[in-house]
Amino acid sequence: MQYNAVNGVYITRHVVINDGNLVGANIVSILSSSMLTLPINWTELIMNYNIASCCTKAQCQRGLSKKNAMRWIDPHGTRTDYTFGDLEMQSNKFANVLTDLGIVAGDVFFTFLPKMPEQFFAFLGTLKTQAVCGTLFYNFGEDALLDRLGDSGAVGIVTRKSLYKKVARIRDQLPALKYIILVDGEDDPLNGVISYVRIMAEAAFEFEVQPTAPGTPSVLHYTSGSTGKPKGVLHRHGSLTSQVATAQGVLGLKEDDIYWCTADQGWVTGTSYGIIGPWSLGVTQVHYGGGYDAQTWMNLIAQEKITVWYSAPTALRMLMREEESIFTSANLSCLRDIYSVGEPLNPEVISWSRRVLKHDIFDTWFQTETGAIMISNRPGLEIRPGSMGKPFEGIEPAILADDGTPLPEGEQGNLCLKAGWPSMFVTYLNNESAYKSKIKDGWYYTGDTARKDSDGYYWFMGRSDDVINTAGHLISPFEVESALLEVEEVAESGVIGAPDDLLFEKIVAFIQLHERYQPTKDIEIKIRLHVSNKASSIATPQELIFCDSIPKNKSGKIMRRVLKARYMGTDAGDTSTLEI
Ligand code: ATP
Ligand code: MG
Repeated sequence: MQYNAVNGVYITRHVVINDGNLVGANIVSILSSSMLTLPINWTELIMNYNIASCCTKAQCQRGLSKKNAMRWIDPHGTRTDYTFGDLEMQSNKFANVLTDLGIVAGDVFFTFLPKMPEQFFAFLGTLKTQAVCGTLFYNFGEDALLDRLGDSGAVGIVTRKSLYKKVARIRDQLPALKYIILVDGEDDPLNGVISYVRIMAEAAFEFEVQPTAPGTPSVLHYTSGSTGKPKGVLHRHGSLTSQVATAQGVLGLKEDDIYWCTADQGWVTGTSYGIIGPWSLGVTQVHYGGGYDAQTWMNLIAQEKITVWYSAPTALRMLMREEESIFTSANLSCLRDIYSVGEPLNPEVISWSRRVLKHDIFDTWFQTETGAIMISNRPGLEIRPGSMGKPFEGIEPAILADDGTPLPEGEQGNLCLKAGWPSMFVTYLNNESAYKSKIKDGWYYTGDTARKDSDGYYWFMGRSDDVINTAGHLISPFEVESALLEVEEVAESGVIGAPDDLLFEKIVAFIQLHERYQPTKDIEIKIRLHVSNKASSIATPQELIFCDSIPKNKSGKIMRRVLKARYMGTDAGDTSTLEI
């Protein structure tokens, strides 16, 4: 990668980035916050931001090389520990592997693996070389892979045999993809397939990380595709400042914590808070390779003595459907705090958690584009169930009308952020115009709508294109869904607006009942009455449609546009991230 100091422009093989001076002001405001006592020498960091070095080498230099960095629990429950020294060595080796293959700064390299140790080593190793590391959710099908590998011009990928089949089928459409490293496979030189075990055994374990300026591209994530075609969101090494500051200032991580983040590394939460934030603070993480199972999860928290747990509303709503005895019989006294991200956290989930888990849940809001938590609840801040909390230090949100005018307190509008926080994305890969269209007069338009109350709490209303305009009122699908969830018989719901001659849009609710219930007229009446009392009569769905499941995307978010297409009988657009 070349850096032109005069213009502040980085040139990579695939992307040209204007470094600008996005970092300066916000570093000062974030770091000067009195609550932060970071264990890393930040002056040094600003000189050399390399994310991976901060997660591994810096920790070893602080004397933590023998401290456990990761307790890996495989899907069968077998436990293996990796120290910070192991992370440093394995990631150095991987960096040497890529360098020996000829992969250079600015190249795009992907991991396509389920949660497993090799994924973490590869991620950190790739960042050490200053190549860009993209992470692909292991559940992706061929179309989703082709989109992402093709769009990014990826030169290599680390995967495993069972997933390689999908890549092999699209390989001839990916001319740039030269190297495939298989964690459990043999060398196959004819097909450019390399054995991870062999090549890692041969690699040296010293790797000198080049000084990495904050603007150097780092991580590439494609968004969840909730609202349309997923976008390739490019981040840079300077994002570390926000990630580590929020891991400490919001998640409250301390060196003696045992922390579990359930997010897959394919999504931004999985890298920002499943790798970068906690390890830069020298915190031990538990990573579990198995899927959702309430009993196993509770056992895991108790046995591993998890102190801080970061999960998502979908998972928490699934727990709510389980027998309460699972939770009352578990010893969760080790838990200090629970956090949630990814979707609005329905107030009912918080009440359930208070009653059954005997804990609050702190809702946090961010996006792939923001790279780190921007608005959140956190210890020391009174929780207002349904509100996503207050902005983090150095983050300046605003509620703006479509024409950019600030809206008064209490009014719903575009949730915007003053551009320039350290983990702000650099661009949408190959879609600079979409990036530019999101930034007006120094404000980044998040695409979400919200309102701010008189005490400075922000309340999520919906996606800008998701708000229902009925009988002259703007209704958030989330508000209706939250009210629906309070009805005992309702397990999940998805609410959409559909065209209506009289109301402009009518409210249509798709409802999944708990397994033990069948739809009846009585349940219908009960639901309507409840929403009318709880939300408002205007928010009461005109139509209730009972179904077996609510479509979600692979990161667990309700896909309202799929429901709408189903209702309207139209094409649902890009469904590559739809969970089947
Ligand atoms: P796409 O941009 O492709 O439509 P996406 O927006 O779902 O997908 P992500 O970047 O993973 O992709 O998700 C960020 C979005 O998730 C936010 O813009 C917001 O709509 C929603 N979200 C995240 N956290 C919260 C939260 N705490 N409360 C409400 N909504 C949230
Ligand atoms: Mg989005």
